[in-house]
Amino acid sequence: MTPQTPQTQGALTFLQPGQKRLWIGGEWMATTATFDAFDPATGAHLATLSRAGAAEADAAVAAATRALPLWAALTPAARGAVLWRIADVIEAHADELAELETLDQGKTLRTGRMGEIPGAIAQFRYYAGYATKILGSTIPTSIAHQPPGKRIFAYTMREPIGVVAAIVPWNSPLLMAAMKLAPALCAGCAVVLKPAEETSLTAIRLGELLADVGLPPGVVNILTGYGHEVGAALTAHPGVAKVAFTGSTETGRVLLGAARGNLKKLTLELGGKSPAVVMADADLTLAVPGVARGIFGNAGQVCVAGSRVYVQRALHDRFAEALAAEAGRMRLGPGLDPASDLGPLVNTAQADRVAAYVKEGRAEGATVLTGGTRSGGAFYAPTVLTNTRPSMRLMREEIFGPVVTLTPFDDMDEALAQANDTVYGLAASVWTESLSTAHRMAAGIRAGTVWVNCHSYFSPELPKGGHKESGWGYENGAQGLENYLESKTVCMVL
Ligand code: NDP
Repeated sequence: MTPQTPQTQGALTFLQPGQKRLWIGGEWMATTATFDAFDPATGAHLATLSRAGAAEADAAVAAATRALPLWAALTPAARGAVLWRIADVIEAHADELAELETLDQGKTLRTGRMGEIPGAIAQFRYYAGYATKILGSTIPTSIAHQPPGKRIFAYTMREPIGVVAAIVPWNSPLLMAAMKLAPALCAGCAVVLKPAEETSLTAIRLGELLADVGLPPGVVNILTGYGHEVGAALTAHPGVAKVAFTGSTETGRVLLGAARGNLKKLTLELGGKSPAVVMADADLTLAVPGVARGIFGNAGQVCVAGSRVYVQRALHDRFAEALAAEAGRMRLGPGLDPASDLGPLVNTAQADRVAAYVKEGRAEGATVLTGGTRSGGAFYAPTVLTNTRPSMRLMREEIFGPVVTLTPFDDMDEALAQANDTVYGLAASVWTESLSTAHRMAAGIRAGTVWVNCHSYFSPELPKGGHKESGWGYENGAQGLENYLESKTVCMVL
């Protein structure tokens, strides 16, 4: 296929031949080992990247450790101003970053330009404001042993946790990086960022853009490379105080072992198998496009993708027909083409994986209402399946592709039982016009987020995290900032 050509000068310049380097201590450094980035839509070679290992992890952690006191010593307002400038510089280069994300990951330009890049900007602006609002408290104590004539005064201080390793996946690269960098920097931490090997380009470009925002060298370091090499070195590193991880539940389990040496703090934002429950009274003008966006957005490569849809029996067949029609109308194509509604999956291996789930489901009796086809390379058509059973692998495991199952239910109790029949607990949506049903379902579903009459609505002020095997801890909002802070109690006799 003909290579896609970006329109922005910034992306064209960035993609000029030459090895992309690591950003360590404010310097760009190359490695002898390299790996390559390809456009999943065309197979075209995009860039050659440095492949960091344990030595580079050591160097980056050392740089971050040196930078930490300088950064933490800035006034909160000065730190906030730097975060605001980071938002400004991303905004000024938004078109170019969206193009790079599309070329590297496959997503449509619209997804990056309208959703993910503004989402990254919003993270920095939100936490820019928070830097001046990190407060301890004074505590009236009831300690009995007070020396005569003295009084006890106690208070808490909030301190940055230290050096943070931020490890992110390939589905929404810049946004995921921003969701860790913004609160960590706000708290006064120094960060070593490791993007996914499949999608490292926007992280490197971000490093270039950060050169003039006023960050002391070493406060942000960026290491490209493989998870089992540099990722493993960072998660086991004694100089890293905290790992902020987004990725699969499988890798999350590996990190538990790696972090045990110095008892690193961990936040784990992991996989999901999120239900969308459509009641018979749902407003179909919202529910049909909303459920479709909830699963087919970013070609299903979204942690909260609504991949299991449960529809009240009276509505099931009508809804199935409408959803299949909506899916059938979606145009698959290269992400830079404005006519494309869905880009390719991140690579052909992911497309193989998605195809294997559908093939197995079909062999076990599932009916394909639409899709189920591979249209070359990494493209996979939006797919709607019915006649599935809860025991099927495609109903239990995260597919991370544009594949949705439809299952009927009779009443709310049955809907809740089906929605909760999973080891995951990341998110869910409920589609109903009844306030009572909405609240009862929201209370009954075990998930970190429940949307009503919408799906995949994110904003920095809305905490986001997983129950059950979908993770530990929450990102966004005040809870997201807590991940990067320690509390210190000071108690004194005066
Ligand atoms: P992976 O778990 O495979 O990888 C995530 C990151 O971890 C990558 O940077 C990867 O590097 C790195 N990594 C892999 N092995 C190790 C290791 N041993 N030590 C340290 N780091 C390692 O996830 P994917 O990239 O495949 O992303 C998809 C997954 O992410 C899905 O399960 C999805 O649900 C989840 N996700 C969760 C979100 C949430 O908020 N809950 C949001 C978005 C995605 P490398 O790329 O080199 O393998």
